[in-house]
Amino acid sequence: MKKRILFSLTLLAAVTAVSARQPDLVQYVNTLQGTNSDHDLTRGNTYPTTALPFGMHTWSPQTGENGSGWKYQYAKDSIRGFQQAHQCSSWTRDYCVFSLMPVTGELATGQHERAARFSHDNEIAKPHYYCVELDNGIRTEISPTERGAHLRFTFPDSGDSYIVLDGYNGLASVRIDTRANRITGWVTNGAGLRPGFRNYFVIQFDTPFYDYGTWEARENIRSPRNTSDEGRGRGAYVRFSPGVTVEAKVASSYISPEQAQLNLERELGPYQNLDETKEAAWQVWNDHLNRILVEGGSEEDKATFYSCFFRASLFSRKFYELDPNGKPYYFSPNDYQVHDGYFYTDTGFWDTFRAQFPLSCLLHPTMQGRYMQAMLDVYDQCGWLPSWSFPHEAGSMIGNHAISLFADAWVKGIRTFDPEKALEAYYHEATNKGPWGPANGRDGWRDYYLLGYVPYPEVHEATAKTLEYAYDDFCGYALAKMTGNDFYADVFARQMYNYRNVFDPATGFMRGRDRSGNWTPQEFDPTEWGGPYTEGAAWHYLWSVFHDVEGLKSLLGGDDDFVLKLDSVFTATNDFKVGTYGRVIHEMAEMKLMDMGQYAHGNQPIQHMVYLYSYTRQPWKAQYHARNVMRRMYDATENGYPGDEDQGQTSSWYVLSALGLYSVCPGTDQYVLGSPLFPKTTVTFEDGRQLVIEANGNSDENLYIKSASLNGVPFTRNYLTYDELVSGGILKYEMSSQPNRKRGTRPQDWPFSLTQAK
Ligand code: CA
Repeated sequence: MKKRILFSLTLLAAVTAVSARQPDLVQYVNTLQGTNSDHDLTRGNTYPTTALPFGMHTWSPQTGENGSGWKYQYAKDSIRGFQQAHQCSSWTRDYCVFSLMPVTGELATGQHERAARFSHDNEIAKPHYYCVELDNGIRTEISPTERGAHLRFTFPDSGDSYIVLDGYNGLASVRIDTRANRITGWVTNGAGLRPGFRNYFVIQFDTPFYDYGTWEARENIRSPRNTSDEGRGRGAYVRFSPGVTVEAKVASSYISPEQAQLNLERELGPYQNLDETKEAAWQVWNDHLNRILVEGGSEEDKATFYSCFFRASLFSRKFYELDPNGKPYYFSPNDYQVHDGYFYTDTGFWDTFRAQFPLSCLLHPTMQGRYMQAMLDVYDQCGWLPSWSFPHEAGSMIGNHAISLFADAWVKGIRTFDPEKALEAYYHEATNKGPWGPANGRDGWRDYYLLGYVPYPEVHEATAKTLEYAYDDFCGYALAKMTGNDFYADVFARQMYNYRNVFDPATGFMRGRDRSGNWTPQEFDPTEWGGPYTEGAAWHYLWSVFHDVEGLKSLLGGDDDFVLKLDSVFTATNDFKVGTYGRVIHEMAEMKLMDMGQYAHGNQPIQHMVYLYSYTRQPWKAQYHARNVMRRMYDATENGYPGDEDQGQTSSWYVLSALGLYSVCPGTDQYVLGSPLFPKTTVTFEDGRQLVIEANGNSDENLYIKSASLNGVPFTRNYLTYDELVSGGILKYEMSSQPNRKRGTRPQDWPFSLTQAK
């Protein structure tokens, strides 16, 4: 026993010593980054998420109406609730929401009458702590746990004090236990959720209720002294004495009320008050953010970096819970059954396969491994692989990118799943069309195999689909090849060059093509959005050949012409035609506003493009443009993103880019070089190994790589492998204000292409 205590003390001392050395990086995060958004122009479409990393339930102040996807808009001046939030994007709205709102003076229950004005001057927005003092004098504070939160409401000295529970815009059940100072219940709301999908909550107050009642949202009718109710938009209210400070511990479960109570006891039980929960949450975030320690840059750059790193650490969320023995299990949103194991959801692979998951492979391989198994569980549960999960499978956007995650994990040594089952599931995905959403199965799959492309206009967004299917088939081929599966390697290898079939040599762009092979529409304008493309134009989709840049170069006439075409993205006028959209969509407006020609970093299709210079004789242009995009398009403010953030993708672009890396082709183990942002960056991997990235002489002007070495060995390649990175050591750059026109210019320096460079 003594020995154990001694050991614990030693451990505690060691942990404290580590913490003491850790700088406070949480201070740099602004969770309001990107919140100044609306339908027509988004600067991130984010909300001030108060949560632990990848937490199951998160919290946010609410300025929008119940059910609106724009739950918090920076320009709004009143708050109508503090809600449990799960939203991926304003465009998806949310699910299983409920909110708490403190009210002073007269009781006001309805979402309009209870709204209270506030100013950003009286707001603190950090990952581990959100605080706002409303103009009416009530202070609300929130600190998160993974499946719960600690809230504190401090009321002004005069007037009654109320807390209103809003069951939101779907079915809700509430029960007030006056003896235990507790409200329990459940909510079911959100698109596509059926009865039976319940978010069970427990709200444990530390103060007795003076008075209480239930209310109904549609007519805003109150039932004083009523202790329970169930139906659409049901809520509750409780009254306290004036001037009181009330703390509430809240936790939820998708499994059962008992599990909600267990989550509350386990996660919030150890903490006597909000300050303790806040301290614990700070520690979790500070440990997390210290996984990448940047040094030597400006305070603004650090704020941008850590705000983006925070956003890169929220999705996909952990959807599993821990049973009384600590074993993971979950309620599956796909079959409404409870299963053993880990589960993750709330992400669109179309966005996040590009950089968010490749970043996770570097930082969180254990979680990534669990995720791979969870994807196969989804296949078992609903018959299809995930593509857009929110929280059930929605099949939104295009492509079958689960295979990209599988191949990427395998090539990086994350081999927690049966590759044959993954290939079988992908084969099924690629040779069928599912019942819902374009990315549930494969739209136009039969023609894709018979013609070698998806015909347009028969199939909506056909050319974008052809390009992404060809990349996915490369991933299927790569996984099959790595695991010795000749059958599937052969099947998918036949399609992975299909990008060639939508390339029109006369115009030099990827174009729509009808069944007979005619380019369509006949009148071609590379600035015209929609039609054969998804949320973009020909300028953006020309580059969607992640796996065979050399092949794309050949189509465009070789290295010089390829570079000219890349250059012309930035020198072209930034005009656009609305095309089949028929109106300006926000992505067009954002491209115009950014004023970098046809470069549209506000949306995902082109986000890898600047890194394609690293596949050419002019790799320094990747360094120039990557740095330029970091500088021009990101900051830590409410206007901090160039468009929708999208579940960590646009943030992960920045995080990787600031390390001087980007994952152009997930499914290979390569990270392509750009320009590291900070003079020194230390990445600590899960196993404790560290990679120190030193960029000597780095500055705004000295953005070019003069020379590079890894652990003392000079190299001229324009990429590093996953193993090289996670093995750790010292990656050293000499930076310069002038490009080194000799470094990285030979074919053997270039990253992976299916077609070998000559
Ligand atoms: Ca987007």
